[in-house]
Amino acid sequence: MEPAKHPVDPPKKRRIGVLTSGGDAPGMNGAVRAVVRMALHSDCEAYAVFEGYEGLVNGGNMIRQMHWEDVRGWLSRGGTLIGSARSMAFRERAGRLRAAKNMILRGIDALVVCGGDGSLTGADVFRAEWPTLLSDLIAAGELTEEQVESYKVLNIVGLVGSIDNDMSGTDATIGCYSSLTRICDAVDDVFDTAFSHQRGFVIEVMGRHCGWLALMSAISTGADWLFIPEIPPRDGWEDDMCSIITKNRKERGKRRTIVIVAEGAQDRQLNKISSSTIKDILTQRLGLDTRTTVLGHTQRGGAACAYDRWLSTLQGVEAVRAVLDMTPTSPSPVITIRENKIMRTPLMEAVQATKEVTAKIHAKDFAAAMTLRDAEFKEYYHAYLNTATPDHPKMILPEGKKMRIAIIHVGAPAGGMNQATRAVVAYCLTRGHTPLAIHNGFPGLCRHHADKPISSVREVQWLESDSWVNEGGSDIGTNRSLPSEDMEGTAKCFELYKFDALFVVGGFEAFTAVSQLRKAREKYDAFKIPLVVLPATISNNVPGTEYSLGSDTCLNTLIDFCDAIRQSASSSRRRVFVIETQGGKSGYIATTAGLAVGAVAVYIPEEGIDIKMLSRDIDFLRDNFIRDKGANRAGKIILRNECASSTYTTQVVADMIKEEAKGRFESRAAVPGHFQQGGKPSPMDRVRALRMSIKCMQHIESYAGMTRDAIAADPLSAAVIGVKGSQVLFSPMGGETGLEATETDWARRRPKSEFWLELQDVVNMLSGRSTARAVD
Ligand code: ATP
Repeated sequence: MEPAKHPVDPPKKRRIGVLTSGGDAPGMNGAVRAVVRMALHSDCEAYAVFEGYEGLVNGGNMIRQMHWEDVRGWLSRGGTLIGSARSMAFRERAGRLRAAKNMILRGIDALVVCGGDGSLTGADVFRAEWPTLLSDLIAAGELTEEQVESYKVLNIVGLVGSIDNDMSGTDATIGCYSSLTRICDAVDDVFDTAFSHQRGFVIEVMGRHCGWLALMSAISTGADWLFIPEIPPRDGWEDDMCSIITKNRKERGKRRTIVIVAEGAQDRQLNKISSSTIKDILTQRLGLDTRTTVLGHTQRGGAACAYDRWLSTLQGVEAVRAVLDMTPTSPSPVITIRENKIMRTPLMEAVQATKEVTAKIHAKDFAAAMTLRDAEFKEYYHAYLNTATPDHPKMILPEGKKMRIAIIHVGAPAGGMNQATRAVVAYCLTRGHTPLAIHNGFPGLCRHHADKPISSVREVQWLESDSWVNEGGSDIGTNRSLPSEDMEGTAKCFELYKFDALFVVGGFEAFTAVSQLRKAREKYDAFKIPLVVLPATISNNVPGTEYSLGSDTCLNTLIDFCDAIRQSASSSRRRVFVIETQGGKSGYIATTAGLAVGAVAVYIPEEGIDIKMLSRDIDFLRDNFIRDKGANRAGKIILRNECASSTYTTQVVADMIKEEAKGRFESRAAVPGHFQQGGKPSPMDRVRALRMSIKCMQHIESYAGMTRDAIAADPLSAAVIGVKGSQVLFSPMGGETGLEATETDWARRRPKSEFWLELQDVVNMLSGRSTARAVD
């Protein structure tokens, strides 16, 4: 074919702008990095608008084109590297006119705004006004018809970046879990001194209109009392608070008292309840040596936790996808999350619902404010109440409904196991059930049967379990052994201790144990009781759930490890670290950690490792080091799951890279090992442990009074609780459609279909590895 005489201009690339606005929040950098790289990956150009809306209004050097390397290393940096501001100018129409003009002059046809409810309200105002802003600009002669022709529609997408978690329509905002982590670290530290001196502490946390941080920190630290703006305490709260605290100290023997108060806490007449007022009440009425701690801006700072890195990255990617999917008539979306599912919600609706909550609070219609809040928030609030005030007379069940509920841990320890047990004990005591801890798993249970003098089954008291609120590992002891090792003995013990229900916390072994007990129901009536598994394993490989307790704690431990090790190679060294993760035959932890640290590659058992892959990756690394210049230079990370390949071990991979790099860069192997299982549980594991455990107890209670055969006939009487997409559900173990038959890969000890596998593509896309592969 004859070549064209005049080369045709390539079509203009779309230009996507990104800005961060309002209070800074950990994770904002992750969002900007993801937007920039996803835009470039999608053949668009990326622009960062510096200093929030102020940069849009002022234009010039405040709007800068961004390249792939510009956002290198941003995932682990706190605050927002493109700056944020509270722009007065943008609140005025004149400012927004200048902003619109600057966007058009720079050819930016889509804007991703990451900020809190104020910033997204601003985005919504800008979107609604856009057509009239353009006509005003033309009328004033600032722009011509031709200039605005391609910009008739403003594509705007919101990302909720705020530590407060005050936006309706999303379970979490980018930054809220990092902030919660900071609060919990501070309260955990206060615990020791409060215990030592039998002191009271009133801790004030951020949240002018939203009590999410206060509620979640109260749950995570087992606070005695909580004040949040949405649910002011009833009149006479001073007496209620003093009576609970006195009871906890005098009757139950608690040595430390913690009260958490949101900065916007108020009473029913909207009078502020301050931390100093609370302190005075405790000091004067109870004679309690009480101190006040106002956490302030420390809550905003620091690097993002694993969840915020994961969330900001996936939401940033989704924001660009949303821009590309938009038609002239589609409403502007805000990117949200429900449980584990990233979604798009109309921006206007989310902004409207958020405003309504505040309006209802101002109108003292607290019940309505609460109904407008997300369902998850309400559930957490009730779960907190159920466990913070045990033996409340109103909550006690009638005799026929009370049960003897056994709690057992099976498998390796995981963060959140103790919190789940604590929640169950507190809930049982609130309802009048008997909580029975089985020590050291199934072998512990059968020890009694073998006529050993010590019983391993024991009623747990409130005070003992209360101290587990922030402890890692498993206080009642966990064991990998399965009931099949002594089914007869296990059944006898179930009868001996008169178990009415079994609550099993653990990983794949816990799942297997309940499967065995369910199948043994044919022979042993003792197992015809509700059997519920709460998944807890760092591997997150239990069928029936996308989230297991402990996996978030593990991820946080891993990213701290990776950040530190990467830093050791900053500036002068060109070094690749091949880091081995746990996870058994599931690559979940490796992949999610890869996403959170910006790994160049992740090797997982599901994909394996082969020589071509290694060779391509070495070439990719070589290229990467050539382009890697300037301040952001640091070590590079490859994550390799422990079972990814029996031939290409972590050391072998590191050695091969070193050999093939031919002196251009070097490589080291690192194995964090059991470090990944330890430490204090993350706040997310703590709060989810509470919520899930209480759901399990309510599920168990639904069988109270039923005959054993009727219980066994119900498939959900042997079930796993889990997060599936946007829901929390119980899935039956048995039956034709049950987890055992349909969703379990027994040989590989993992679910048949793993929801996170597609995240591999995101890791590869954001590291540039997928482009390198495609070129290859
Ligand atoms: P945080 O949750 O940290 O408080 P935020 O986004 O809610 O963050 P705001 O100070 O409320 O923080 O808003 C940030 C900026 O968004 C404001 O300084 C202003 O420029 C813009 N903005 C807020 N509300 C509006 C509005 N109604 N119209 C136009 N712009 C607005």
